[in-house]
Amino acid sequence: MQKKCLSVLLPVAVLASACASHPPATANTAPAVAGPSNLSSPEPAAIGRPGQSGPTGRPDTDNTTVDINGRTAAGFSAWVAAFRQRAGAKGVSDQALDAAFGDAHFLPHVISLDNRQPEFSRAIWDYLDTAVSASRVRHGRDKLSQYDALARRVQTHYGVSRYVITAIWGMESNYGSNFGRYETIDALATLGYDGRRETFAERQLYAAMKILADGDISRDDMRGSWAGAMGHTQFLPTSFLAYAVDGDGDGKRDIWGSIPDVVASTANYLSKNGWDSGHPWGREVILPAGFDYTQADGSPRRSTAAWRAIGVKPIDSRGMPEFSAAGILAPAGARGPAFIVGPNFRTILRYNNATSYALAVGLLSDRLAGNPGVQKPWPRQLANLSNSQIRQLQAGLKALGYGSGTPDGIVGPNTRAGIRAFQRAQGQVADGYPTEALLQKINASL
Ligand code: CA
Repeated sequence: MQKKCLSVLLPVAVLASACASHPPATANTAPAVAGPSNLSSPEPAAIGRPGQSGPTGRPDTDNTTVDINGRTAAGFSAWVAAFRQRAGAKGVSDQALDAAFGDAHFLPHVISLDNRQPEFSRAIWDYLDTAVSASRVRHGRDKLSQYDALARRVQTHYGVSRYVITAIWGMESNYGSNFGRYETIDALATLGYDGRRETFAERQLYAAMKILADGDISRDDMRGSWAGAMGHTQFLPTSFLAYAVDGDGDGKRDIWGSIPDVVASTANYLSKNGWDSGHPWGREVILPAGFDYTQADGSPRRSTAAWRAIGVKPIDSRGMPEFSAAGILAPAGARGPAFIVGPNFRTILRYNNATSYALAVGLLSDRLAGNPGVQKPWPRQLANLSNSQIRQLQAGLKALGYGSGTPDGIVGPNTRAGIRAFQRAQGQVADGYPTEALLQKINASL
């Protein structure tokens, strides 16, 4: 139906997505170490398109009795009716609206997940232990070998490293074994109804309706995460419209069931977001004594030659990639490993805007390519502070005149700057990394 009608009348939905494939985190749920929500998911589904075998979807669709945070099935139905009116007024046909919402279901579990406020964030090394586990490396090498011809063909065509494409596949869905069973329309409509992400959800719903109208996938097979990211490499509907391609030539863009489509679409996403085929993502380096850690948050950007001139050294005989604009990262402070990261690192951030995620993709891709993992040990002896300890630390810094803003339990640039100022005043290495010892020192100074 109405392909043309929808493209004309829904310009928002067909504009190229400028954001990553993941929804914006809301302030009170942003984890210190972000990443795909499926990392902690306990039960991977069978490989293949979900819904074709095993238990059917809709993990929680008790449409009559559930009341979560004051949200009910009746309220959901009213929201859907109002949304249909708004969409109809914008020219979406009844046929398209019926296809999407004729059998829409409230998913209360989506609201629970969206309101989750973890008390502990994970240390970067804990996150990487899972993200770049031995089994994920092994599994990825198996996939590269199984799809060798395809991976090489796509790498040549798009100029994107097959190891990085495979690493994203591993990060997003454990190579397709776990990409979420939520019906995307239901998940997005539930988020829209819940209200905290209504603008995001509505924009994605328009895009999802266009995907259905284009005939790439059926409503029942359009599945993914609770937050609306779909298929093996977790494209949001707007990202799908902007970047998904038909890799196997059957006329459909099927990121749920066709590995050639998944691999080509992911490569196209990276290519269109500036992938530079001539360079790696980055590499581990050694920082000189006395390094200014205000420069270890990814900016400023300098050429490799300029970093070399101030004492940054390669960690091994592979040397440092020659970047024209590279940042330095030291995610665990002065005690941990450091990395020089180039433009491709920033392209990976366009996929999922979390430094820990992009680092995991880069490190996993290195392992898949047969290169070593991180060489300098992580400071695993340091306990990760809980969110309430971080709030205490922030309040302490503020009381001592080193902080600004309301303590929120999340270590961002302002908190790191405050920690560095305190550390400098104490004559310590000012790396901005929060530890229990630092918190005790702050408390003792109050
Ligand atoms: Ca296809």
